[in-house]
Amino acid sequence: METVRIDEMTWVELEAKAKALHGPPIVILPTGALEQHGPHLPLGTDAMMPRFLAERIAPEIGGLVAPTLSYGFKSQPKSGGGNHFPGCVSLDASTYIALVKDVICDLARHGLSRITLFDGHMENQWFLTEAADLALRALKAEGVADVKIVKLGYWTYLTKATEDVLFPEGLLSWELEHAAVMETSVMLHLAPELVRQDLIPDGPPAAFPLYDVYPVDTRPIPETGVLSSAKSASAEKGRAVVAQVVPDIAAALREAFELGEA
Ligand SMILES: [Zn+2]
Repeated sequence: METVRIDEMTWVELEAKAKALHGPPIVILPTGALEQHGPHLPLGTDAMMPRFLAERIAPEIGGLVAPTLSYGFKSQPKSGGGNHFPGCVSLDASTYIALVKDVICDLARHGLSRITLFDGHMENQWFLTEAADLALRALKAEGVADVKIVKLGYWTYLTKATEDVLFPEGLLSWELEHAAVMETSVMLHLAPELVRQDLIPDGPPAAFPLYDVYPVDTRPIPETGVLSSAKSASAEKGRAVVAQVVPDIAAALREAFELGEA
């Protein structure tokens, strides 16, 4: 099968795609993090999940997948457990914005002017926005025109029906889902060899105050780093998530980039 991964192509192959008559392919840039995901999921979960999904979405839209950005902005206590856990290796916001901006700019300079920032780590969100904004400003000054950037977090595409499959008892909150039912289920489906199934935690949901404290107050953070129980995770639930979000995000990107129907 022909690869969708830019890092597996030659420059000659990539150039031919960028110069295609009907316009350049959509490039999906998975943006993740190296962040603790409890005792049962790998540190790279937030980078692997968008990469796995991107590699399934790209063929549906004639798109490409850029190498994943495996480091992201700092883990926050209320959405990721906090950056103090061993293995959380993160970038300052200014570094991260500069990194994403540089990648966007070089893709666009080479004619790959349809770019999707495909996020797997909530903490990245506004810095991706800033990177897109600064990249467009820089590219405009250089005379690189017609660049379009779309940003999305894959988890926002889960429908109510899929949510009901994942959480028959009701969803607590997406923030507290860190390393819990959704991520564990998708990893059980797509990379079961990386899930320590005997270590899936079943603690009560974390209870945080509405304010944030600096330096971080670690007392409300569960010792496992998991913010709510992952006990009810299953590969079947993960399969349901992937089966729904892949075609839905493909359709959304087709719409956003005005590609027309498949
Ligand atoms: Zn995660």
